Amino acid sequence: MKAGPRVLVVEDETAIAELIAVNLRHHGFQPVWASDGASAQRELDAVLPDAILLDWMLPGESGLSLARRWRQDPRTRAVPILMLTARGDESDRVAGLEAGADDYIVKPFSTREMLARIRAVLRRRAPE
Ligand code: CA
Repeated sequence: MKAGPRVLVVEDETAIAELIAVNLRHHGFQPVWASDGASAQRELDAVLPDAILLDWMLPGESGLSLARRWRQDPRTRAVPILMLTARGDESDRVAGLEAGADDYIVKPFSTREMLARIRAVLRRRAPE
C-alpha cells in the first residue's frame, strides 16, 4: 500500500495536536508532530513533508515567523503551509498569507474542513 501524504503538524498544545494526528491518520495521512519551531526545523531537515499545518501561537518563534523563514529557504519553499490559529481578523489572515501561508484555518475547525483544505493545497501543488 502506498504511504499517504506526510503532514508536519507544528502545534504546542498536546490535546489539539493529538486530535489532529488521530484524524489525519484515520484518513490516510502520515502525521508527524513537532511542538515548537526548533523541533519542526529538525523534522524538515530530516524529511520534507507534503504539507505543514502550522500553529500561529507557539513558544519561542511564532508560526508567522516560521512561515516567512521556510518560504525563503529554497529547500522548503514549495512545501504548502496551512496556518492554524484562533485569530480570525482580516488583518491577521492577511499577515498569515503575506508571510507565505497557502491557506488559513481558524480554530475551532472541523475535521472535515481541515482535511478539505489540506487536500486542496496538495492538489494545487501537485498537478498530475
Ligand atoms: Ca499554540
